[in-house]
Amino acid sequence: MHKRVLITGAAGFLGSHLCDRFIKEGYHVIGMDNLITGDLQNIEHLFPLPQFEFHHHDVTRFVHISGNLDYILHFASPASPIDYLKIPIQTLKVGAMGTHNLLGLAKDKKARILVASTSEVYGDPTVHPQTEDYWGNVNPIGPRGVYDEAKRYQEAITMAYHTYHGVETRIIRIFNTYGPRMRLNDGRVLPAFIGQALRGEDLTVFGDGSQTRSFCYMDDLIEGIYRLLLSDYAYPVNIGNPNEITIKDFAEEILKLTGANQKVIYKPLPKDDPKQRQPDISKARELLNWEPKVDRKEGLEKTYAYFKTLSTESLYKKEHKDFSAYVK
Ligand code: UDP
Repeated sequence: MHKRVLITGAAGFLGSHLCDRFIKEGYHVIGMDNLITGDLQNIEHLFPLPQFEFHHHDVTRFVHISGNLDYILHFASPASPIDYLKIPIQTLKVGAMGTHNLLGLAKDKKARILVASTSEVYGDPTVHPQTEDYWGNVNPIGPRGVYDEAKRYQEAITMAYHTYHGVETRIIRIFNTYGPRMRLNDGRVLPAFIGQALRGEDLTVFGDGSQTRSFCYMDDLIEGIYRLLLSDYAYPVNIGNPNEITIKDFAEEILKLTGANQKVIYKPLPKDDPKQRQPDISKARELLNWEPKVDRKEGLEKTYAYFKTLSTESLYKKEHKDFSAYVK
């Protein structure tokens, strides 16, 4: 019998790659998505497979799965600052009520559950690099609050189910990740810059571009998730690439990669935009024997190759026009 895994957010960027990985490992995969931000094109190739099934369902409502379940991976959530503004209530609900429903399902099925948390639980961090024992610096009522606080609540309720109900739980804190199947127009910096380069527009750096991020290629992240799920560690683990870069330098890298001869232009820095972000991955190294393998040059080339295959129509489709609420 194949082991059975439920993956929420299956039609999204990370969820779809997880579906691929678990199919490859010989699992029966049940994908679930409400398709608010997900795209069925990401999992189209899996539909003919007998070991894959898809449920169009919103996990903030009661989740029913018939039969046994070995693992649950909860990856359903909007995940870009622009999305949080556009669908703030859904963002809160999927992290809070969605997680609660899936923990209940895990308890019922005696399944192990891994929840996708985020470096956003550290907010605009005052500790650098961020270790798992740092409690964070989050503005609960700022534009990112709907995501950050939902994810903090998610960690709290996950630990509570572990402690009080003995559910086998895993918590991954994901730092900035990139790769094929990111949404071109979700407002995140990498698709934003590559989209601009492909359309012949100038690259928009927010603020003076001195803020930093550390970008992890998705293959590395998926490997980290897989190892954490199979480990016996119930506390949060950072997974990300510690190679830190300023957003200004990142824009220059994208111009070089794409051969675009546009320039960088500067826009106001969004409210509560974290100034520095870099994961301390000592724990993942020690517990999971994991570290990233793909350097930024290689990862960006693969990602750019993907974006080049998208249609001209999708290149010009603007999902988010009103950025005003996002700006100070
Ligand atoms: N950013 C930028 N230009 C853009 C989009 C984003 O300079 O067109 C900046 C943003 O202000 C932030 C960083 O890039 O400092 C990463 O933004 P993203 O939305 O990808 O994710 P975050 O890590 O902030 O959640």
